Amino acid sequence: MATIFTKIIRGEIPCYKIAENEECFAFLDINPLAKGHTLVVPKAEIDYILDIDDKLLAELAIFSKKVAKAIEKSIPCKRIAFAVVGMEVPHTHVHLVPIQSEADVGFTKPKLKLPQDEMEKIAEKIRSYFL
Ligand code: 5GP
Repeated sequence: MATIFTKIIRGEIPCYKIAENEECFAFLDINPLAKGHTLVVPKAEIDYILDIDDKLLAELAIFSKKVAKAIEKSIPCKRIAFAVVGMEVPHTHVHLVPIQSEADVGFTKPKLKLPQDEMEKIAEKIRSYFL
C-alpha cells in the first residue's frame, strides 16, 4: 500500500507544498515543531534512509539544502535543523526545523497546530524564497 507521503506526492492527499523536482518533494509538516517545519521526501518510496543509493541520497541532501535556505529567509531563527527520525511514517523524510536552540528540536515535545490560513501563508513565503 502507498505511504501517506506517496499519496501526498500524487496529490491524493492535500498538503502545503513548498517545492519539487524530479526526485524529491517538500511540504510543510502538518503538526510542526516550529513554524516553517518542512518535510523533504524522495519520490521513491524507500522506508529507511540508509537504504537509499548514494546518488539519490546526494540529491535529497542538495534539494533539502535549497529548501532549508528558503526557510531560513522566511522564518526568524538561528539555524535550520536537519533530522531524520522516521518512526511514524515508513517513507524517508528529512525534517527541516527552524530553531533558536537545541531544545527546539525535541521530537517528543508537543507539536503546534496552526490554522490553515497561517500554514498557507508560511508555505507561500517559503515558496517565494525558493530558488
Ligand atoms: P517521523 O516518522 O519522523 O517520526 O515523523 C513523521 C512526521 O510526519 C511527523 O512530524 C508528522 O507530523 C508528519 N505527518 C504525518 N502525517 C502527515 C500528513 O498527512 N501530512 C503532513 N504534511 N505531515 C504528516
